[in-house]
Amino acid sequence: MSLISDNLVAVRAQMAAAARASGREPASVRLVAVSKTHGAKAVAEALAAGQKVFGENRVQEAAAKFPPLRAAWPGIELHLIGPLQTNKVAQAVALFDVIQTLDRPKLAEALAAEMQRQNRNPRLYLQVNMAAEPQKSGLLPEAVEGFLRQCWAEYGLRPEGLMCLPPFGEDPKQHFELLRDLAGRLDLPHLSMGMSGDFESAIAAGATEIRIGTAIFGGRP
Ligand SMILES: *Cc1c(COP(=O)(O)O)cnc(C)c1O
Repeated sequence: MSLISDNLVAVRAQMAAAARASGREPASVRLVAVSKTHGAKAVAEALAAGQKVFGENRVQEAAAKFPPLRAAWPGIELHLIGPLQTNKVAQAVALFDVIQTLDRPKLAEALAAEMQRQNRNPRLYLQVNMAAEPQKSGLLPEAVEGFLRQCWAEYGLRPEGLMCLPPFGEDPKQHFELLRDLAGRLDLPHLSMGMSGDFESAIAAGATEIRIGTAIFGGRP
């Protein structure tokens, strides 16, 4: 098995090459290292190699793993990239710097209340279910604008980006390009798309953040 530090160097080089190939600045794409299922030791290795931005898909798992790491390593930025239940909102607001999976009014309402109560303002992205897959969470593309306006008007929230997980087994390019166009129309600066298998295509389409697990930490059980 290769070292996490070596994997990070390789992924960063591939990211930079993909950015340059489409005439973009390598610095315009950020790497979110997805550490779900991997322990604190693996995260510490990535931190030692200079990685500061991490993604987790479960509140409970992140809450067990990250507070001690944060105490030891200043400057960690933690993203929630998995579905958020309203009963975990207080914990999520306390823990995460970015919540990428806002996708419904009930959650917006709970987040707004909790952000005010804790006086914390995690950055919020809207998750979009590009192909209306029933097993996936996220707003349908045609519902994004209305929900964004509802976030502003009813909840006083200012989402700053869009994220998606395109359907498996399909060329993701068209989905990435649609999400980019949607973010552009709505003037949302952050575009979270692309994983280990498809990040080069996501960067070509304009991703500002890619979420990479396997290519950094290896396979998951
Ligand atoms: C697990 C996960 C990733 C990372 O996937 P890899 O293929 O391991 O890079 C990215 N985004 C989300 C939402 C995930 O749940």
